[in-house]
Amino acid sequence: MAAAIGIKGHCAHCDITFELKPWQLNAIAIHEPFECPYCQHTLQLACPRQQRQFKALDHWSMAPPGMAVFTCAVLIVALVAEWVGLLTVIGQLNVSLLMLWVHFLVLRYVRHKRRLIVNLQAIKRLPLEHLTRIACARLGQQ
Ligand SMILES: [Zn+2]
Repeated sequence: MAAAIGIKGHCAHCDITFELKPWQLNAIAIHEPFECPYCQHTLQLACPRQQRQFKALDHWSMAPPGMAVFTCAVLIVALVAEWVGLLTVIGQLNVSLLMLWVHFLVLRYVRHKRRLIVNLQAIKRLPLEHLTRIACARLGQQ
């Protein structure tokens, strides 16, 4: 989840939008409530649509490394094709430029996808057992 940092949470109680920390993202991922850093209300992501969006981020955060490998592979293949005479120098440059352009577009799309603000609903105080679990999750992350 580290790559997905940049997601913001909006507290429904105090109406403040704040950057979510990795342990808070983890809490959301495992459907554990956590405290708002401003009003100390217990928050949870309750909207199913946003939960799906949040899960999809996991998938998107994986895209850039895979994309970098793919782009490098295409550039090398184009270079080799030029060496063995399959492509002209101009052809090789065209393929390389096209690939870098596609790479740039994908990165932009991924960055856009990650700009998510999740609406966190304030929920009732939790039993002690829940709070202990949150504390454990938090300690485990730091
Ligand atoms: Zn709050």
